[in-house]
Amino acid sequence: MKRKLIAGNWKMNGSLAANEALVAQLLAEACVVSCDAALCVPAPYLAQVRALLGEDSPFSLGAQNVSQHENGAFTGDVSATMLKDFGVRYVIVGHSERRLHQGESDTHVAIKVRRALAEGITPIVCVGESLAEREGGMTELVVKRQLASVIHLNGHCISEIVVAYEPIWAIGTGKTATPQQAQDVHAVLRAQLKAASDHADRIPILYGGSMNAANAADLLAQPDIDGGLIGGASLKAPDFLTILKAAS
Ligand code: PEP
Repeated sequence: MKRKLIAGNWKMNGSLAANEALVAQLLAEACVVSCDAALCVPAPYLAQVRALLGEDSPFSLGAQNVSQHENGAFTGDVSATMLKDFGVRYVIVGHSERRLHQGESDTHVAIKVRRALAEGITPIVCVGESLAEREGGMTELVVKRQLASVIHLNGHCISEIVVAYEPIWAIGTGKTATPQQAQDVHAVLRAQLKAASDHADRIPILYGGSMNAANAADLLAQPDIDGGLIGGASLKAPDFLTILKAAS
């Protein structure tokens, strides 16, 4: 069976003191974790969390965004090369919060994926529909359009990506997709990846959206759910550890 991947998305949360406490609690229990795991932290804390994790940590370091540009006059942007300098292994790309608040388009997302892959960083590509789109029967159309753009620009390299299905209506709302709702969309995404790559079976498809200690096991039991992208629950060590154990 494929190893599951659990990635925590700290979003814009944390402080030097809070990060230190959280990472210490995670590392204290890390021996029970046998899935792949990552912490996607705010850019200013990459160096701190890298140092806290140390060598041979069970947790890989992740970032939450990468510039679509290589370098130059892009004030405030952080390039894939810079992330690489800090030992970043994963980067979240196309999170719905960035699509919504920063106006990131499918094309921006596809270019960011290319930048990350060029530096050997694994992009966690987020796709997902709004509530109105789900209620309008558009879910499949929306997620396939979002993923198609990434496939189109990145060709056979997509076997190196991670996909995260994150229904927008489930993010931070406490409203989780049922295991069957999530599995149905994951199966659609798997089929789309299979049509584009001979190695689609090894592409992890994560579920994200109010995954927590109570519902993780049922979601992770679905055949096409290869792990989770965890927001709120990744900030509480006991909850995150329970999810990691469910995936192990
Ligand atoms: C996320 O931000 O990617 C996410 C899934 O958040 P939450 O788990 O809080 O819904």
